[in-house]
Amino acid sequence: MSGVPAPNATVYATGGGVYGLRLDDGAMVEAGLRGRVKMERRTGDKVVIGDRVYAVRSEGAWSVDSVAPRDSEVVRRGPGGRAAKVVAANVDRVFAVVAAREPDMTFSLVDRLLVIAEASGLHSVLVVNKVDLEGGAERAAEAERIYGPLGYRVVAVSAALGTGMDRLRSEMCRGVSALMGPSGAGKSSLLNALHPALDLRTADVSRKTARGRHTTVSSRLIPLECGGVVADTPGFGDVGLWGVASDEVAACFPEIAALEEECRFRGCSHLREPDCAVLLAVAEGTIAPTRYESYVRLREEAAEAGPR
Ligand code: GDP
Ligand code: ZN
Repeated sequence: MSGVPAPNATVYATGGGVYGLRLDDGAMVEAGLRGRVKMERRTGDKVVIGDRVYAVRSEGAWSVDSVAPRDSEVVRRGPGGRAAKVVAANVDRVFAVVAAREPDMTFSLVDRLLVIAEASGLHSVLVVNKVDLEGGAERAAEAERIYGPLGYRVVAVSAALGTGMDRLRSEMCRGVSALMGPSGAGKSSLLNALHPALDLRTADVSRKTARGRHTTVSSRLIPLECGGVVADTPGFGDVGLWGVASDEVAACFPEIAALEEECRFRGCSHLREPDCAVLLAVAEGTIAPTRYESYVRLREEAAEAGPR
């Protein structure tokens, strides 16, 4: 379309129909939606944090006039339903956060998080938190052994002690990062440790209570002193596999995707076909059994959910 004005602001916060914008000149303003954007929003196409927008001011009030096409979207399944919901736009990378202990890290959870990010076309850094707890460092080392060779950087951290935080911070100082992971993994604690001025409420004071009381869950971009921004999207830990067709799951496992050409059959499901390079690699031990188990389970889940 011609005549669409260039974006002049980024959406920093959403909630309750109010949009917090950071204008390109640095000013923070609040805005509503208008015109076409408002219509689209009613039909479910939301304006989300990270969106680049064109904002206009009339009679002292700002409003979002149009939204620029997105480079990437972070998506999660809507509560109780199938509908995928975009929670952040133009995210550069995802930090998949798990706790080494309490709750204990499982490979099945890690795989699920990594696949969800891959399905959005986003590369993950795996963050193993709570390495201060007994056995935590060993679990982080185990994660490194499995995921490192697959191209995922693994960062072992303790939000409580500050261990590994310099490395984590240096990974986040450019562009937009999103933290994802189950509740209790320590995402709020990590954000607080990265940016002490924040004082986010952690589980003890319970954001969950706040979520129960208010109907609106707000999301925001948190600027870090070092330059990057982190997307804070409550509930992003409620992870399901959304919008991924079962035959797309293989592409979300780098080590399986790499063997695609070597199977005898095109479109091999890697479940039972003869001369399947993936089954062979599993038998030979070059693909970790836990990874293959995750592949089979997530594929089944995607098939049950049906086509998008
Ligand atoms: P979130 O739900 O992912 O945001 O997790 P929270 O940040 O609320 O943390 C959940 C619980 O784990 C809280 O009780 C934190 O105090 C605790 N916690 C977070 N990080 C660490 C850590 O590095 N070590 C230990 N031992 N506990 C932690
Ligand atoms: Zn195969």
